[in-house]
Amino acid sequence: MKQNQFDIIIIGGGIIGSSVAYFLAREDRFSGSILVLEKDPTYAHSSTALSVGGIRQQFSTRENIKISQFGAAFLKSVKQNLAVGDDAPDISFQENGYLFLATEKGLPILQQSFQLQKSLGVDVTLLKPSELKHRFPWLDVADLAAGSLGLANEGWFDPYSLLMALQRKARSLGAHYRSDEAIGIVLEKRRAKGVRLANGETLGCDYVINAAGPRAAEVAGMAGITDLPVHPRKRFVYSFQCRNPLPNCPLVVDPSGVYFRPEGETFICGVSPPEADDPDCLDFDMDYRLFDEVIWPALAHRVPAFEAIKRGRSWAGHYAYNVIDQNAILGFHPEIKNFLFANGFSGHGLQQAPAVGRAISELITFGSYQTLDLGKFSFDRFAAGELVKELNVV
Ligand SMILES: Cc1cc2nc3c(=O)[nH]c(=O)nc-3n(C[C@H](O)[C@H](O)[C@H](O)COP(=O)(O)OP(=O)(O)OC[C@H]3O[C@@H](n4cnc5c(N)ncnc54)[C@H](O)[C@@H]3O)c2cc1C
Repeated sequence: MKQNQFDIIIIGGGIIGSSVAYFLAREDRFSGSILVLEKDPTYAHSSTALSVGGIRQQFSTRENIKISQFGAAFLKSVKQNLAVGDDAPDISFQENGYLFLATEKGLPILQQSFQLQKSLGVDVTLLKPSELKHRFPWLDVADLAAGSLGLANEGWFDPYSLLMALQRKARSLGAHYRSDEAIGIVLEKRRAKGVRLANGETLGCDYVINAAGPRAAEVAGMAGITDLPVHPRKRFVYSFQCRNPLPNCPLVVDPSGVYFRPEGETFICGVSPPEADDPDCLDFDMDYRLFDEVIWPALAHRVPAFEAIKRGRSWAGHYAYNVIDQNAILGFHPEIKNFLFANGFSGHGLQQAPAVGRAISELITFGSYQTLDLGKFSFDRFAAGELVKELNVV
């Protein structure tokens, strides 16, 4: 007979849900049962599988920097932490850095973030245009004031491999995965007592964790929470070929907002649209005009070799976009106290998954954060007007 009562039910088995499952399952002081509900075990449409796999230390808030410092350390030790038996995962971490470029206008923010990053031990350097040109001769620096380059713990990795490794390890430590869709949450006296499934079953539980990515508001709505400010927003990724190689190319974030990085022999790139042109949407239809009219001109301006490129495969995915302050929403709901959020990561949830998994596991096991206080990301902050002011959102 199938088990129908669990201590923890995690709705969504992407990188966040799987990281929570892994950290709970490996915690000696937690002995409960864990179920991850995932409606699409192929992950074909998940943000995780469609992301560009970047991790950076270059944030402007202390907590986001600390989260990524733990993230990088975790990525570097996956072979030890996530091995199952003799089988150690390979997530292909390319530690090539992020390069944030600024014109005179963006310089004060770049300098301010740099000071904070250095004070927290981030290995980052601020380069003048002449130094940028020396290090990256393929870059046009004429309109730049500076660039901030991460020298360690930044780059990109294979998100799907990390997801599979977390999932496999969580299962090996006793977590259950079930392929089904949550369609309702049973509430009793302001507590979540169970989760209703599309197959007609109802599973009982002590805690529900919302890890539904771009569908987080839908899942919160099942518990009667109608004000989770997480909206699905489409982001496009375009690949292209360039005949000229770009030695030591990091992930470059142009002052225009356009980013690009190498992907094997090719490159990938994208840009976030202005807020006014960023509707809620869950489809995957492509917009090639954005590439032709916005991205390519910016690429060719920054790297003259990009004037002659050939566009290749492209895809669309969705940010779970926190429309209020574009940062994570973590922890207990103030009234439904056994309903937890792990939502709203916008463009940086992949790299935050290890720290978020650890943090949610601590909340469940101890009732409070133990290693890194992430109270700043609580759902309550919106009512209190204490928003997270992260300036480096890509
Ligand atoms: C184009 C793009 C580029 C990105 N680049 C980066 C990057 O470079 N670095 C970075 O850190 N982040 C990046 N991100 C963001 C990152 O991908 C996400 O923040 C992260 O993957 C979120 O993981 P998640 O587990 O919350 O969501 P998801 O991976 O979407 O997983 C949520 C899961 O919940 C399941 N689900 C939803 N509703 C239900 C339900 N009712 N019942 C059962 N299951 C359900 C879904 O099927 C899905 O598999 C990018 C995102 C996109 C779209």
